[in-house]
Amino acid sequence: MVQPAPPPCPFAKRFPSQLVRDDEFFMSLAYNQAIDAWRLDEVPIGAVITRNGEVIASTHNQRDSTRDPTAHAEIIALGQAARAIGDWRLNETTLYVTKEPCPMCSGATLMARVQRVVYAVPDPKMGCLGGATDLNALPQANHHLLITRGVLEKPCLELLRAYFQLKRREENAGGS
Ligand SMILES: [Zn+2]
Repeated sequence: MVQPAPPPCPFAKRFPSQLVRDDEFFMSLAYNQAIDAWRLDEVPIGAVITRNGEVIASTHNQRDSTRDPTAHAEIIALGQAARAIGDWRLNETTLYVTKEPCPMCSGATLMARVQRVVYAVPDPKMGCLGGATDLNALPQANHHLLITRGVLEKPCLELLRAYFQLKRREENAGGS
């Protein structure tokens, strides 16, 4: 069976100034990863992990291409970061992700002792860092994440919305 070509991504990558390496800069890198996901016909969610201002993980959602339900951007990024550091404890790292982490990814981020999470788009359905519920508020937990919300929310949301609109149109057109 011939696979249809993935839908072309109508969005361009961002080229942030290298001089200002702030939250918006690193979220732009995560956004670019989300575009790479789209180009592979994956739900466009990207993640980047930094430590001391250096990128130690950079990836995107790969659930369909790997047929792995755990292959969310954050889970893959946590693995990359742990290999880069040589330790599963990701203290002093910051996770940038274009959408609020789901239950699995919020849990993994907590268990990895990530210091800080910056996310773009809140998810009132499945987000577990304040959107639908807040795993970070477990009263007995001995690790808590610092959270920053809404960085580059608009472009990251537009990307997700456009992707799902395209998918719905494909389904209505009788595609797979
Ligand atoms: Zn997830």
